[in-house]
Amino acid sequence: MTLSKCKDLSIALARFPKVRLGHLPTPLEPMDRLSEMLGGPRLWVKRDDCTGLSSGGNKTRKLEFLMADAQKQGADTIITQGATQSNHARQTTAAAAKLGMACHILLEDRTGSNEPDYNLNGNVLLDQLHGASISKRGGGTDMNAEMEVLAESLLQDGKVPYIIPGGGSNPIGALGYVNCARELVEQAAGIGLNIDALVHATGSSGTQAGLVAGLAALQSDIHLLGIGVRAPQEKQEQMVFDLAERTAQYLGTGVQIDRSAVRANCNYVGPGYGLPTDGMIEAVKLLAQTEGLLFDPVYSGKGLDGLIDQIRKGYFDGMDNVVFLHTGGSAALFGYPDTFGLPGYTD
Ligand SMILES: *Cc1c(COP(=O)(O)O)cnc(C)c1O
Repeated sequence: MTLSKCKDLSIALARFPKVRLGHLPTPLEPMDRLSEMLGGPRLWVKRDDCTGLSSGGNKTRKLEFLMADAQKQGADTIITQGATQSNHARQTTAAAAKLGMACHILLEDRTGSNEPDYNLNGNVLLDQLHGASISKRGGGTDMNAEMEVLAESLLQDGKVPYIIPGGGSNPIGALGYVNCARELVEQAAGIGLNIDALVHATGSSGTQAGLVAGLAALQSDIHLLGIGVRAPQEKQEQMVFDLAERTAQYLGTGVQIDRSAVRANCNYVGPGYGLPTDGMIEAVKLLAQTEGLLFDPVYSGKGLDGLIDQIRKGYFDGMDNVVFLHTGGSAALFGYPDTFGLPGYTD
């Protein structure tokens, strides 16, 4: 039953052009030391930090579909945008390099940080290493308009630009997470695991929207929860719902999206996007020191903070198996070297 639904979804997805960029399927691993420490459900991690492509992360799956669309349109130059320490920008620069395209990245200063490491290390270092040109815009700039202006000037120069929206979040990119829902459900069935809930960090919404659309197509009853990193709950849920509907429509399977399947908890954002919180710092250290896993300050660390706090508050009571989707981002750690209050040499 489940496996035949997975097969139908594979067939529906196979109609869309895709370039192979990822190391898929990603592993699904138990986090036994963390589970024991927290005393709640058994915790698992879906390792989308291991997707490959410039140290991995969730944008790989989206870029497989987006870059194929760019190729289909005859593009020779990719334009995208994000925050200074954008993982999406970094992974896009790598994808463009691999496919022999030029890449222009517009980075929005959302945090106002003057720290040299924040502005030049981590993802920003990698953007440049992959050969992209980067330019900065002030916080609050209309980044979509800026991308259009850049595309226009590239057209004048005889280039064929292709614009990827921030986070790769449109129905094309979200197909990558429709596929991830299929992959996870198939993987769990293969080891006889019954997943009760799936939790992850949600930002530009393509990841969650793809998962919502994919789980709906599979008629799965996995409880999906996004932990917000930027917008307030109402806005975040609306963004996810809108994109999930558009993705389901684009996928063309006639699946209806149930508004109640879209859940975001946005209580872990703290002072704002990309700004550290005590809970994030504690969560990133805890996972590094109990499971040997690296998470990031902007997304997955706040997502984990939400997961851990909600376990302590009893949100998952009565559930046996909870999966955290690790969306990657550890390259950003090098942009935040002073955040963790680390002791340095002890001798
Ligand atoms: C982009 C990103 C997210 C959020 O995914 P969206 O599809 O933008 O909601 C989560 N974690 C990491 C590490 C990311 O880079």
